[in-house]
Amino acid sequence: LGKALNSALRKLARSSTVDEALIKEVVRDIQRALIQSDVNVRLVLQLTKRIQERALNEKPPAGVSPKEHVIKIVYEELTNFLGREAVPLEIKEKPTVLLAVGIQGSGKTTTIAKLARHLQKRGYKVGLVCTDTWRPGAYYQLKQLVEPFKIEVFGDPEEKDAVKLAREGVAYFKERGVDVIIVDTAGRHKEESGLIEEMKQISGAINPHEVILVIDGTIGQQAYNQALAFKEATPIGSIIVTKLDGSAKGGGALSAVAATGAPIKFIGVGERVEDLEPFDPKRFVSRLLGLGDIEGLLEKFEELQREQELKEEDVEKFLKGKFNLKDMYAQLEAMQKMGPLKQILQMIPGLGYSLPDDAVKVGEEKLRRYRIIMDSMTEEELENPDLINYSRIKRIARGSGTSTKEVRELLAQYNQMRKMFKSLDKRKLAKMAKKFGG
Ligand code: GDP
Ligand code: MG
Repeated sequence: LGKALNSALRKLARSSTVDEALIKEVVRDIQRALIQSDVNVRLVLQLTKRIQERALNEKPPAGVSPKEHVIKIVYEELTNFLGREAVPLEIKEKPTVLLAVGIQGSGKTTTIAKLARHLQKRGYKVGLVCTDTWRPGAYYQLKQLVEPFKIEVFGDPEEKDAVKLAREGVAYFKERGVDVIIVDTAGRHKEESGLIEEMKQISGAINPHEVILVIDGTIGQQAYNQALAFKEATPIGSIIVTKLDGSAKGGGALSAVAATGAPIKFIGVGERVEDLEPFDPKRFVSRLLGLGDIEGLLEKFEELQREQELKEEDVEKFLKGKFNLKDMYAQLEAMQKMGPLKQILQMIPGLGYSLPDDAVKVGEEKLRRYRIIMDSMTEEELENPDLINYSRIKRIARGSGTSTKEVRELLAQYNQMRKMFKSLDKRKLAKMAKKFGG
């Protein structure tokens, strides 16, 4: 997917203007890329419809390229769908009974061992039940995996009745007062009815707190139907996606989420017992998109968001006609960092006001001198600079170890900025503030 999507996004990057035709073309590329990555077709259509609508209607904020904007939208739509934050596995009751289901080879047994270890590390006493009566050595496989951690496994290689094993195993660990009981199942029949029927019966016999669907991250389009078949038998509480340590992008997992409506809680990233990670939607989506730097991009958006907040305050201040020396200093300081004031004024639609650079930009050294001068002013003077007459200027210069020339320079800059704000069209500013919710 990464490759295909990157080529779609490169198209955006290459073109200087973004029009409807281009967005549609890019959205088609994204569509193709997601389908290639095994995301369910219907789901892809839903997602890309939203992406297209937003890309066509939302304007990228200042400082964001159209390409970055579209990536952000794609990212947001995918994480909206997957859940923004990871949903942790909660152990509320003692004992909590978990049932793992999934077809053979999906990684259930390995995942159960991982999960047991994960919970043990967090202080829970865990018991495991093997109900796989089909795979020879299933009981020993599980036992061997958790042996180093002294986690007990209930099972009987001779027993052929999986439902009986499940019931007895849960009863066994309940008696021993463990905190969590995890039940492993067979899954020999792929999606066939036999497997689903057995799972239904086991689920009915032990009434688990949560059924965990284990999905192989490398399977393709079958993921959707597979997950749906399990969901029809018993409500799926959560999903664990395995084998994401390889090259698989895990698009099938998205389909499983769509089919069951259950959140992904963990991913498996290797064959060892330690190779289990809590699900992180952000990272998963970056992986799906094949974009390494999505973190950096999101940070940029957050930064812009913060600037935006700053601007709202500023606009309100201008509207109230309040602008004293402290405000000026804050403005100059802020502008030195990121230049927001100029941006606000240029962003106001229809205002067409652009500030002369030297009116709002001062160097770092000058800003430091201003600070020193202002430190010698009284609160009253800072709030109402009109009070500052010649004798006050002399006092301030003396107190700050600067010259009267420098103090006057600061006051001149202040007057220039204040005049500029006064000249702004208040009606347009008011409209803008309303848009900001001010
Ligand atoms: P089950 O039939 O569903 O119980 O699946 P198993 O737990 O027996 O796993 C099937 C195979 O997948 C085994 O060879 C596991 O080592 C392997 N496997 C399971 N999870 C992962 C994973 O996250 N990464 C990798 N690379 N292999 C895994
Ligand atoms: Mg197994």
